[in-house]
Amino acid sequence: MQSEVSSLEAVYLVWLSGAGCDGCTMAMLGSSEPGIEDLILGNVPDVPRVILVHPDLAVESGDAFRANLEQAAEGKLSPFVLVLEGAITDQARAGQGSFSRLGTTLDGRPITTADWIDLLAPQAEAVVAIGSCATWGGIPAAKGNPTGATGLEDYLGHDFTSRGQPHGLPVINVPGCAPTGEGFIETLIYVLLHLAQLVPLDLDEERRPRWLYTHETYPLPPRVEYPPAAGFDLSNRPVVKCPVPVTGWLRGFGGCARVGGSCIGCTERDFTDRYLAFARPDPAF
Ligand code: SF4
Repeated sequence: MQSEVSSLEAVYLVWLSGAGCDGCTMAMLGSSEPGIEDLILGNVPDVPRVILVHPDLAVESGDAFRANLEQAAEGKLSPFVLVLEGAITDQARAGQGSFSRLGTTLDGRPITTADWIDLLAPQAEAVVAIGSCATWGGIPAAKGNPTGATGLEDYLGHDFTSRGQPHGLPVINVPGCAPTGEGFIETLIYVLLHLAQLVPLDLDEERRPRWLYTHETYPLPPRVEYPPAAGFDLSNRPVVKCPVPVTGWLRGFGGCARVGGSCIGCTERDFTDRYLAFARPDPAF
């Protein structure tokens, strides 16, 4: 793989997979107008071309793929944006095994997702968490999980900033289970334009792209009768911020409650423990 891209004509996109389902990769691949392929081909005006380093999509495998990550960790694959999909598990709870690994050390120890984050995050121009597992811990961090899974911001610390100029950036959170691929690509474009010092990057108090997470929606039960017949107190529903009710899922189509399904509050912190109860049928039914 070509290395040492010297300007922002091109930026490496180094993707790591933690504890998750690869649904965020699928969402990213589904994006269009533009899609990731447009960024790879350099077809989006003013946006640096993307060179994708992705464990599931790379031509290389095994040691050849891992060499890309090692080069990035050594500052030889530069500049790069680090993207994490999936939660980070606690190796200390894995006993003799491991919850994750991408390669092994010379003495046979697994190199875990957390190890790669430790190596790569300090070298990255920007660090993006895609999906609710990478942002807040998501389903892998649900109550009772044995892995000690956490989101990236909790793992790196809330004071973490990447190397991005002119000022370091916090972990950029794009939550959702999965978020829309178009929302992620749009965020990535803004991050790349920001790194090229062409636009500001407006993040909200949860370090989410502010323009994407403004619409308020509510967790809803599935298609059961709403109150008063169902005895469901709608006034107590938590508010959820999510673009899907406005943008749809892909290319303006589909999307949870938009097509008659439930909103389960999947963009919010601890949604599995705090919000799913609102999406379950009332026990009376
Ligand atoms: Fe998640 Fe609700 Fe948004 Fe659907 S509408 S993506 S369930 S927060």
